[in-house]
Formats: sequence, C-alpha cells, structure tokens
Amino acid sequence: MQLVRQKGKLRAYRVRAALAALVVASLGSGCAADGSSEASRPAAPAGSAAGQPAQKGPQGGKPGAQDAAGPAGALSAYVEKVKRKQKARAVAAKKWGLVRTPLAAPPPPAVKPKITTRKGFEVKGGEDLPPVFTTVPTKEKVVFLTIDDGAEKDPELLRMMSELQIPYSAFLSDYVIDDDYGYFEKMQDRGVALHNHTLNHRYLPGLSYSAQKREICGQQEKLEKRYGTRPRLMRPPYGNYNRDTLRVAEKCGIEAVPLWAAEAFPDHMEWREWDRDLHPGDIILTHFRGKGDWKGTMPDMIRRVMETVTSKGYAVARLEDYV
Ligand SMILES: [Zn+2]
Repeated sequence: MQLVRQKGKLRAYRVRAALAALVVASLGSGCAADGSSEASRPAAPAGSAAGQPAQKGPQGGKPGAQDAAGPAGALSAYVEKVKRKQKARAVAAKKWGLVRTPLAAPPPPAVKPKITTRKGFEVKGGEDLPPVFTTVPTKEKVVFLTIDDGAEKDPELLRMMSELQIPYSAFLSDYVIDDDYGYFEKMQDRGVALHNHTLNHRYLPGLSYSAQKREICGQQEKLEKRYGTRPRLMRPPYGNYNRDTLRVAEKCGIEAVPLWAAEAFPDHMEWREWDRDLHPGDIILTHFRGKGDWKGTMPDMIRRVMETVTSKGYAVARLEDYV
C-alpha cells in the first residue's frame, strides 16, 4: 500500500516535472509570449495520481473549470504560475539591464541526488566524511550561484535578486559580516540560505585540529545564534582543506562541502574545467565585493554572470533543493 502510494506520487511528480520542463523550454525560447493558457494546457495524464481528491482549477466557478479539475487542473495551475513568474522576471530583467531574461529552473528533484567527493579531491580515510564537490550530479541544465565572504553589503543586490527571482546561497565569514549582521538577516528573509565560510577566513590546512574547530564550529555557533539555523554546508576559504577540516566540519553538523566549477567577476569568468564552459549542476562562485575590490558593483557582476548562464541555456536553481 505504502509502496503503491509512493509509486503513484513519484509518477505524478514525473509527469509534472516533464510538463514543467516543456513549459520552461517554451518560455526559454520566447514562444509562449502571447500568454495563451489554452495553448499550453496539458492533457490529463492517463492513470496518474489516482485517488487524489479533485481540486478546483484556478478559474474557480467559471466555465472550463470542470476540465481543469483534478490532476490536470493542478498541472494547469502550476503551468500558469510558472508563466506568471517568468513574465515578472522579464520585466525585472529589463529594469535591471539584463540582456536576456533569466531562464526558469525546472522543479526541484523529488529526491536529492547522492553526492560523492570529486575525483582528485579526496582526503585519506575520508570516505565517510562530508563530500567535497564542484558540480552537483544532475542532467538538468541548471547551475548554482554561491556568494562568499560578505564584505560588500549592497542593498541593490537584495532587490535585484528578489525581483529577478534568481536563487543564490551565501557562504559567510564572521570577520567581514560582523559590522552589519542585519544585512544578511534581510537576505535570509528573502529566502537565501546562509552557510559557513569560517570565522576568520584562515588557510585551514595550516591550522591544528583544535584551531580548525574554532574556525568552523565557532562560525556554526555564531550563525545559529544570529540567524536561528545551523548551516548544513561549509566552504573552506580558498577551497583549501585537509582531513581535519572535514572531520571537524562533520562533528559540528556540516553535511557537504561545495566548492566551485567556475568563478564570476563583473568583467569575466574563470573556469576550473579545461573546456572553459558550464555543465549541468556546476557551482558558480562569486564574492560580496564592491567597486573598490573589482571592476564593478554587485549588480554589474550579476548582469555579467547571468549573461553567460542564460546565453548558454542554463537556469540558476536553488542549491539547497539539490544538496
Ligand atoms: Zn572566501
């Protein structure tokens, strides 16, 4: 019984995901610009989600509500929601000076992928420690945006990312955020997850076990006290770590150590891979920096990285949905 229900759920999810992917694809190519809901209303998937209570379609009591009831109605409502969101994103893209409208990400996976340490990034005896990786295993054309440190606290960035509905994750170091914790509280209120980037941004492999513990676990405590949640993710400064780093991290609640496949700047990208390209699931690193630190503002950097991401046909997805 349990199994049957789960299977039904999974099948319904797959149908929804497939349809959403179609919608996303059509939005991406701009062919759904007329906003006609009839054209894109999906047919009822045969035999899916049987036994689910019929739900009213988005049109309520209007004619046509009948055929929008049930799973097809829920799908249609979902499709409409994606389209509305994408329209708002197009308006925001214009407002913020983006050349292209960011693509809509597919729905998050029903089950998070199993992540293992990237080849060449292992530590001796680290098989059971948090995985270190630069790319999330997925076939979807999504990438993840992560912003490190926290020195620059530009209110424009908060507005821009909310209006564009681009998800990102922040990896914070206490020594640069302690002059304005409130900025990151606002970020968190907007749905951004705050993660651990250590207290003082030291080169961790040069520190003893107990010094690393202070750096990593100390930041876990600080972030939990300030923001109410204990991070699950940690990124070591400069991407440098050793076995002690991962042991300490695991001890204080870290589940995964995402590094990056590409790094974004306001005027260029830097690539880890020889092909100098994006790949499904790639993690992009950038920093909270201002004009004094690099050639532009935070919005300049976002415009540049989104041009790269969108022109290559990728959407930005939420890292925490996959990891
Ligand atoms: Zn850093």
